[in-house]
Amino acid sequence: MSLKGKVALVTGGSRGIGRAVCTRLAGMGAHVYINYVSGSEAAEKTKRLVEEAGGTGETIGFDIADATQVQESLKKIIADAGSLDILVNNAGITRDGLIARMKEEDWDAVLTTNLKGAFLCTKSASKAMMKKRWGRIINITSVIGFSGNGGQANYASAKAGLVGLAKSLAREYASREITVNCVAPGYIQTDMTAALNAEAQEKIQTEIPMGSLGTPEDVAAAVVFLAGDEARYITGQTIHVNGGMYM
Ligand code: NDP
Repeated sequence: MSLKGKVALVTGGSRGIGRAVCTRLAGMGAHVYINYVSGSEAAEKTKRLVEEAGGTGETIGFDIADATQVQESLKKIIADAGSLDILVNNAGITRDGLIARMKEEDWDAVLTTNLKGAFLCTKSASKAMMKKRWGRIINITSVIGFSGNGGQANYASAKAGLVGLAKSLAREYASREITVNCVAPGYIQTDMTAALNAEAQEKIQTEIPMGSLGTPEDVAAAVVFLAGDEARYITGQTIHVNGGMYM
């Protein structure tokens, strides 16, 4: 499978899962735009890894929650690269808390970044895909969007929302050879899970039948599969990458 000639944008490509996705897509031949919001140095490191994988890419800083920044940045990508074929809506944040104590701003921040951000990027990217009559949109949701989790009502709502978004867009774009799918990771070794306290990390391990956290590369493998031509007849679906913790 080759992605030679394809142009990809990975939101939140500076770290964690996004970094692994950038590296794998570039290794398959895609030219990769590595998005970040504040971690420019980390994004540069991803770029070095992309080049070490034999690929090409460039960093692009913008806030996916800001409509103007998204529109201008995607316009620039499409003008410079000539197309935008693969969009991976990966960037995400957490602001955990029990609902009774959850601040409205924490609800808004998570919904705005994790769900509205994907809407904004997809809206701008899909115009170029429709023109080319080929496209791949892949939303990184979460096991939490399916199982729910006490203390993560905002995050679970946003992640479940990404599934509804993907299914609706899959129907809208099916006739244009644009597929829209989700990858739902379980617990993966990244900064996001490193931020959990030791007790929470131990509890997580006991919930995973395979007995250990996944790696960003485990998730990237599913994303790359969905991005390729071999997945052309798969749309509106979710691939779960979770070591068996949710079936
Ligand atoms: P990290 O916290 O390691 O990285 C988050 C990435 O998102 C960074 O690149 C960050 O950029 C970027 N980002 C955050 N906010 C914005 C924004 N407003 N605009 C642009 N970029 C932004 O996350 P993970 O790699 O762990 O997670 C990636 C995705 O996978 C997320 O959507 C997460 O919810 C999901 N996921 C993760 C799981 C896990 O166990 N780790 C499990 C299930 C799902 P910067 O470097 O500039 O801050």
